[in-house]
Amino acid sequence: LAERLQGTIQKIKGKGKISEADVKEMMREVRYALLEADVNLKVVKEFVKNVSERAVGQEVMKSLTPGQQVIKIVKDELTQLMGGEQSQIAFSSRPPTVIMMVGLQGAGKTTTTGKLANVLRKKYNKKPLLIAADIYRPAAVKQLETIGKQLSLPVFQLGTDISPVEIVKKGLEHAKEEHYDVVIVDTAGRLHIDETLMQELKDIRALKEPDEVFLVVDAMTGQDAVNVANNFNESIGITGVVLTKLDGDTRGGAALSIRSITQKPIKFVGMGEKMDALEPFHPERMASRILGMGDMMSLIEKAQANVDEEKAKELEEKFRTQSFTFDDFLEQLSQVKQMGPLDEILKMLPGANKIKGLENAKVDEKQMDRVEAIIYSMTTQEKTNPEIINGPRKKRIAKGSGTTIQDINRLLKQFEDMKKMMKQMTNMQQKGKKKMKMP
Ligand code: GDP
Ligand code: MG
Repeated sequence: LAERLQGTIQKIKGKGKISEADVKEMMREVRYALLEADVNLKVVKEFVKNVSERAVGQEVMKSLTPGQQVIKIVKDELTQLMGGEQSQIAFSSRPPTVIMMVGLQGAGKTTTTGKLANVLRKKYNKKPLLIAADIYRPAAVKQLETIGKQLSLPVFQLGTDISPVEIVKKGLEHAKEEHYDVVIVDTAGRLHIDETLMQELKDIRALKEPDEVFLVVDAMTGQDAVNVANNFNESIGITGVVLTKLDGDTRGGAALSIRSITQKPIKFVGMGEKMDALEPFHPERMASRILGMGDMMSLIEKAQANVDEEKAKELEEKFRTQSFTFDDFLEQLSQVKQMGPLDEILKMLPGANKIKGLENAKVDEKQMDRVEAIIYSMTTQEKTNPEIINGPRKKRIAKGSGTTIQDINRLLKQFEDMKKMMKQMTNMQQKGKKKMKMP
């Protein structure tokens, strides 16, 4: 999708003025692109109609930079289609707030239950209780318990010999007694929608009106996701959608369709298997991503959350005064690592989707571990004055870190190159500053 749209936009970018025929041609390609991305036909038609109406009108014709204007219209419409602003969680005024997770088997319910609890605790300061109500998959209760342990969160379970409705009922009582303020119910799923399951979910739902019923959908399932969403919405009623596995190749075809067909907001997106890989859904960012502008905002947010600003300043000072050591290098490495798997970060960079093979690229995190091991094996003196690292010292470090002398040489060279580069950059900055001062 991104490539197609970008190709089309590229064509228009080169022109000074856009004719009606251009818009028509562009919309034909947009249409292809969306269909190719598995967007529902009905949604595509509406999208193309809306964009054409806006684009053919004066807005585009009179604009000074028609290309930009069209990009904006396409992006605005995509954003609109996905629901405008992001939505919040509806907390009950009388706790506990009940959140029910529903969806097909393998969509990511159990995983998302854990991730969501983690978000609720961290961002909303809540005390969540997880209820294990999937008694059909033998390992399901265990899976949730493992997740609970991992996050140090309580899981309410009564095994698999008692009905899910009964489990949830007891779980809700327990939550009330123990003053949990949020309860997340992990329910069973089937491979396909079936009546028995729907009835069970309806019965659970009837126990106490949930504040949220989140449908968990696998983004990789494309068109099917829309049917599933429609079905669940009609038979049990949902309040929002969590789109999982967006860390995969799919670029959001499902996100486009689900919202416009069910009218239910996408609230979160799953970006990986780890427990911190759940993010609020930002329609605008998603639109940018679809258009190939990269998910810069997410990236910036991630970087901000993890890199301590004061430390960054300190580091800059060290570069300037040339007192940057391997210890600082080590600290920088660990900050980069905190941002998450490097290959995920790379994919968010603008234009990343144009680099062939990046989908399959795995940044060698082992290499980073090796670098760390090497630095740990250095003495304090060696870390501050790497020039003293001679042959015997290299041998010792290699032995201590389980690496080779070539590894050590490579790292030393990288470190020197980096220092040189930083020196050049700070010199340039200094010159810039001087110039500014002198009128
Ligand atoms: P459930 O049957 O709906 O409860 O699905 P699970 O929570 O057991 O998840 C099924 C599989 O999908 C597991 O292997 C999860 O690790 C994986 N999964 C869930 N969410 C995501 C996600 O956002 N990204 C990726 N890559 N995998 C996910
Ligand atoms: Mg499950």
